Amino acid sequence: MTTVHELPTPCLLLDPVRLERNIERMKRRAVDLGVALRPHMKTAKSIEVARLAAPDGGITVSTLAEAEYFSAHGFEDILYAVGIAPGKFDRVEMLRSRGADLQVVVESAGAARQVAARGIPAWIEIDADGRRAGLEPEDLEVLRIAELLGGSLRGVMTHHGLSYAARTQVARAEAAAEERDAVVEAARRIRSLGIPCPAVSVGSTPTASAATDLSGVTEMRPGVYMFMDLYQAAIGVCDEADIAISVLASVIGHRADGFLIDAGALALSLDRSTSRLPMDLGYGKVCDLDAVPLHDWVVDSVTQEHGVVRSPEGPPPSLPEGAMVRVLPNHACITAACHAEYQVLHDGVEVTDRWGRVGGW
Ligand code: PLP
Repeated sequence: MTTVHELPTPCLLLDPVRLERNIERMKRRAVDLGVALRPHMKTAKSIEVARLAAPDGGITVSTLAEAEYFSAHGFEDILYAVGIAPGKFDRVEMLRSRGADLQVVVESAGAARQVAARGIPAWIEIDADGRRAGLEPEDLEVLRIAELLGGSLRGVMTHHGLSYAARTQVARAEAAAEERDAVVEAARRIRSLGIPCPAVSVGSTPTASAATDLSGVTEMRPGVYMFMDLYQAAIGVCDEADIAISVLASVIGHRADGFLIDAGALALSLDRSTSRLPMDLGYGKVCDLDAVPLHDWVVDSVTQEHGVVRSPEGPPPSLPEGAMVRVLPNHACITAACHAEYQVLHDGVEVTDRWGRVGGW
């Protein structure tokens, strides 16, 4: 049996009990809301996690590398949910020729013409929050693109990124309603022209966790819910005890105001999303090997391979050299992306498995 004490640090730990609990909770929500679940695999990027999370077989990905990896492992219904660039058509067609039902996202007539000419199924991206990509539901361009796509149109999709700023369940439910209304309205307008628009897709973890009525929607695509993180806990989407990944690090030195660990920017990431919240958790919250927080200790500063653990309020933290800590991530997607694999850890001690991750684009 390998124990946590034998692992090289830094490395990424995954708690399978928390993972499965998070996954089951979202599956139940999808059933209760009457929609399919097309989980976004951009967070986990792991086939073992996809097998647990994708009950209907359909998945969302954020890179063609993920599409190729999941297709090679038997997933065929794949939505590549980042606007398609012309240089990627060859890879899309290669995957489709091998049997994958890979679908792309467009938001311009130019892209629509190209995908329609190649017979690649496409979704129109709708902007539900004025924040990132897509067209507003009332934009006439939506109808023009739908006409150009014709039989290649799979549906309309949106992602309400602004829901991350909603700090209460009520505000997140409102964001979920906005997200729903944007795509349902776009689908209605397309169908009023007699063009079939089979699917209507929404999804972020905050909206999926708070939606109360998804009438007219066919599926949702949350992703970070599988692992959760300090940001989701801080805005009230989950509890800290739901966070399923952490970075294992060793104490490597001491300073007057704290101690050094061997996890820096390349193991934790430079994500500082909790700095926008009342409780700034630095580059991550420091816990013992059972993932129980150690006082108010946070990783307060990082360089490439070093992290400095400090206490915002209390006396300078200290642990003996060689001691191990677990650091909970601010943003699970970004921290996980720093690592090539997961060490699957039961009860904080026994390493039962290693699961790979796909990287690159
Ligand atoms: N769909 C799209 C297009 C996204 O970009 C994202 C996340 O960035 C998601 C779904 C999943 O949202 P979350 O990470 O909040 O679970």
